[in-house]
Amino acid sequence: MNEDLVRFLKARLDEEADLARRCDGDGCGTWSARGHTVDFCQVNLSGFHPAIALHVALHDPVRALREIDAKRRILARHALSPAAGDPELPWDDRDDCQFDGEPWPCDDLLDLASPYADHPDFPRRS
Ligand SMILES: [Zn+2]
Repeated sequence: MNEDLVRFLKARLDEEADLARRCDGDGCGTWSARGHTVDFCQVNLSGFHPAIALHVALHDPVRALREIDAKRRILARHALSPAAGDPELPWDDRDDCQFDGEPWPCDDLLDLASPYADHPDFPRRS
């Protein structure tokens, strides 16, 4: 899997950030829900089930971009620390996570990737 998982995750986060930016073209504010209506700042749309309206409003582009930034920081922390080329060869001679020392990809990285498991480009373990 090596760096395939990192490249895959960065591509998904880039796609999501691009989409969020396109949904907030004028930076008008925060999406909100009231009953069956979602206020998208530029327009109100109604007819949603109230729970769905709340769910849609929760995916406000500004909030989505903050979440993407947080995921990018997590991804950066959990970088690959390869055994090969390390002047102090790890005692167990394995690639591991530079943040937690777990075998790489670590559980945190796999958790970041898990929502995309059904994506056609999801890297499979070999
Ligand atoms: Zn880690």
